[in-house]
Amino acid sequence: AKQRPEGRESEEKEERVPTGPWHQAEDRVRQSTPLVSFRAPALSRAPATCGSWVPDPSPDPALSPPPTLQSAFEAEVSEISISQNEINLALRNLRAWMKDEKVSKNLATQLDSAFIRKEPFGLVLILSPWNYPLNLSLGPLVGALAAGNCVVLKPSEISKNTEKVLAEVLPRYLDQSCFAVVLGGPQETGRLLEHKFDYIFFTGNPQVGKIVMTAAAKHLTPVTLELGGKNPCYVDDNCDPQTVANRVAFFRCFNAGQTCVAPDYVLCSPEMQAQLVPALQSAITRFYGDDPQSSPNLGRIISQKHFQRLRGLLSCGRVVIGGQSDECDLYIAPTVLVDVQETDPVMQEEIFGPILPIVNVRSLGQAIDFINRREKPLALYAFSNSSQVVKRVLAQTSSGGFCGNDGFMHLTLASLPFGGVGSSGMGNYHGKFSFDTFSHHRACLLRRPGLEKIYAIRYPPHTPRNLRV
Ligand code: NAD
Repeated sequence: AKQRPEGRESEEKEERVPTGPWHQAEDRVRQSTPLVSFRAPALSRAPATCGSWVPDPSPDPALSPPPTLQSAFEAEVSEISISQNEINLALRNLRAWMKDEKVSKNLATQLDSAFIRKEPFGLVLILSPWNYPLNLSLGPLVGALAAGNCVVLKPSEISKNTEKVLAEVLPRYLDQSCFAVVLGGPQETGRLLEHKFDYIFFTGNPQVGKIVMTAAAKHLTPVTLELGGKNPCYVDDNCDPQTVANRVAFFRCFNAGQTCVAPDYVLCSPEMQAQLVPALQSAITRFYGDDPQSSPNLGRIISQKHFQRLRGLLSCGRVVIGGQSDECDLYIAPTVLVDVQETDPVMQEEIFGPILPIVNVRSLGQAIDFINRREKPLALYAFSNSSQVVKRVLAQTSSGGFCGNDGFMHLTLASLPFGGVGSSGMGNYHGKFSFDTFSHHRACLLRRPGLEKIYAIRYPPHTPRNLRV
């Protein structure tokens, strides 16, 4: 994956071409990284005077995670397996992905060779968040390196342990001349963003996305923004409430609700709500026991700041399930809120915690209007025994991704692009889409040096005869 031959003819070459975007980008990895302090052994030769941010060696109690920050099962499926799949897929398919793509030709180019060449942008900056700190760092890293770029990876400073692992472990396995891990928070990222990168891939919240895009605009740097938002979950009257409750509760509480594609709120009729609430209670008790705080399967909130924010949201509407919280343990119980108004804070911001508000609608049309009045979400879910209902929600709304009758299973398919639309983001990745995202698609036409007599027909002076051709 480190080698990027120059297309079909040079596919068998083993050496990385030492000129062009690759070696320029390598130089720029070195130029840009000394600006901030980092602990990656590969780059420890950076001048000591350049870094102003010194990592705090004493643990911050507010950020020290309790042992159950994320359950072992969740970490395995959402962090490790998914990253391994991306790596294996790229290794298996890279040669095919790199091939020049032949395209159809017109009459004037019949004798020529027309194709799209995927070439690296050069130096890519990847900024990742804390909620799936491994997967959301390695996923884009795999795509960017596979496409032949050099990479500066800036993991989230909030998920301190993974940040440390990435900085220490990655240099042992990857070619250190083509990537660097830079550590730091908003201030250091700001300084990093002053540099000219050839591509910026950002995952995080929409407010920071605007900062990143503004910085990128100064250099006309293209961006992919993987952002968040509120993901609606429509539950039709025609469905089995317990099946829906199992699926919604599982995906709402996965990683303690700190998932960008988690169902954020339910839209259903009052009649369905009356059946759904006991079904949700039953599912939550089955998953996490009578005392979810002692369950090894329920994660914790990442920080004191997010805990306080979520505790504030518990006062919206009326709590019908859960509602408990424990600041010392950064614990928020799986909670369901009813009698929620559209204007309540819990309906204004992305929840990012195990809290599920239910908003009542009288009809499918009203639910669709509700969804369409708001920003386009990253994901949208519709539950119904009627495929017509699911298809109508799909046809009359827009979102980054869509899953009928389940939670965020669509993102487990590397054959589907993953990304937002509108305020939930721009661009996409996963599998081959990652390779394409991090590749410039160069339009190439190779013509013959001869045949000048035929080509001469286009040159002036134009006569009625050559205008007719
Ligand atoms: P965040 O935007 O606070 O941080 C993301 C990255 O940006 C981090 O590396 C951070 O150091 C940096 N950063 C933070 N503030 C900055 C600033 N002012 N200037 C420059 N850089 C800054 O996001 P987060 O809190 O780590 O993650 C949660 C958010 O990410 C949620 O909104 C969630 O929906 C979203 N998210 C989206 C996806 C997706 O694939 N679409 C996946 C995971 C999370």
